[in-house]
Amino acid sequence: MTTTVKTPLPTSDALRSRVRDALTAVGSSVTLGDPGAGGLTASSPINGDVLFTLRESSIGDVDAAIAEAAHAYTTWRLTPAPVRGALVARLGELLVEHKAELAALVTIEAGKITSEALGEVQEMIDVCEFAVGLSRQLYGKTIASERPGHRLMETWHPLGVVGVITAFNFPVAVWAWNTAIALVCGDTVVWKPSELTPLTALGCQALLQRACADVGAPVEVSRLVLGEREIGEKLVDDPRVALVSATGSVRMGRQVGPRVAARFGRALLELGGNNAAVVTPAADLDLAVRGIVFSAAGTAGQRCTTLRRLIVHSSIADELVAKIVAAYRQLPVGDPFAEGTLVGPLIHERSYRDMVGALQQAEAEGGEVTGGERHDVGDEGAFYVTPAVVRMPGQSAVVHTETFAPILYVLTYETLDEAVAMNNAVPQGLSSSIFTLDIREAERFLGADGSDCGIANVNIGTSGAEIGGAFGGEKETGGGRESGSDSWKAYMRRATNTVNYSAELPLAQGVTFG
Ligand code: NAD
Repeated sequence: MTTTVKTPLPTSDALRSRVRDALTAVGSSVTLGDPGAGGLTASSPINGDVLFTLRESSIGDVDAAIAEAAHAYTTWRLTPAPVRGALVARLGELLVEHKAELAALVTIEAGKITSEALGEVQEMIDVCEFAVGLSRQLYGKTIASERPGHRLMETWHPLGVVGVITAFNFPVAVWAWNTAIALVCGDTVVWKPSELTPLTALGCQALLQRACADVGAPVEVSRLVLGEREIGEKLVDDPRVALVSATGSVRMGRQVGPRVAARFGRALLELGGNNAAVVTPAADLDLAVRGIVFSAAGTAGQRCTTLRRLIVHSSIADELVAKIVAAYRQLPVGDPFAEGTLVGPLIHERSYRDMVGALQQAEAEGGEVTGGERHDVGDEGAFYVTPAVVRMPGQSAVVHTETFAPILYVLTYETLDEAVAMNNAVPQGLSSSIFTLDIREAERFLGADGSDCGIANVNIGTSGAEIGGAFGGEKETGGGRESGSDSWKAYMRRATNTVNYSAELPLAQGVTFG
């Protein structure tokens, strides 16, 4: 399978200059070190080069950041929620103003094509708008009391410092989902971004600090710490961090979840997915192909919601696979900044090696691979691949594993019950979809004995969620929910209040005492 490759790639000097321009425009005054200097490296998957080095946070820096955020919390929690909303509203305005610059940083560090990078910043703007509205809707319930002259109610209070740990593939949106909501809820935030995307994080932090200055909020409501896993571990273990919201691999979640639980902290885990789409004989196949190709090949297969398994009725499998392979042939792969590119680079060499290993394992397990080749773009350190389609004879170990690269495994089914069971057969439970025009099939998939995922769609792919819904998944995906709906409740604590306004003291359940 051949795809066109957009070259030449931008030079490192050109990328450095774009980074400097973007960071200056957003108001960051960070010192960017030369590539050879020590510290945290900032690289680009576009050409695989180290662009800059940055000062890495020490454990002492994290300690200080937590202390500052904890101190800011003592006043921020008492600031009226709509006033807290004004800070998030200002952040949203600055994001609108600097959308292009922030998106350029996302493209440089995460390799997303421009349209997807702009979409990610738009998601930040959307969640800011949502959070501003929420700042006037943080309400509890009043519940009928069984006792006369008593009122029973729920009050929602701020929680404390929220430690936000994020993955490379959504370097800005996930921070915004957490931070915009946490701030209106009265919490303060310490952010540990992926070590692969520190420049993007510096851009976000600069905008939030400006927003704080503009509305007169303490800048300590948001702190940024840069570094690798050990820096995240400090947030995980520190009892001053009330909630650890961690996004990343299942491997990371397995470490973070028990450590936070051991100190009775709260964890919100958004981990890996292994998402499937069921395509039935009643599907609109052309619409299905469009949804499948975007979900499977978009972001070079590096979304948590990427479509990784296609479960197709045996009667239409040959036709559908032929259409997908034909569509894949048209996908322009290459420089994510170039107009028309639809598939950018993999994040790094390890990701490419994982893809090669998975394809070899799939072949050993009886799979027939189409695509998956690496393109020679003249830069040894850059990894551009043609998305792969793999027809599998049945369920197997490789199909049950999330390989963070564009591999679509195709499995066939005979009955819808079998298709639903195949959808649910993996340890992860993030996203799923069904393509059908038959309402009975659709409702079966969405029902209590249907898809076991946090996201179940009809006639759209598995990726590209809107911020208005709660986002997250079940099983090894971690169970957390972020962004819209009532996800804000994870960022607050609930107090149940019983108020006795009578002159009597009746006890609940009719108990008498003396
Ligand atoms: P990763 O797990 O390697 O790293 C994620 C973050 O966790 C990084 O900031 C990393 O430094 C930190 N980290 C790793 N181990 C840690 C530990 N023991 N303690 C504290 N922090 C630790 O993930 P990645 O490669 O950056 O991202 C890809 C993965 O993230 C995929 O599995 C993808 O599905 C998942 N993801 C999930 C969601 C979701 O919402 N469910 C969203 C985006 C990405």
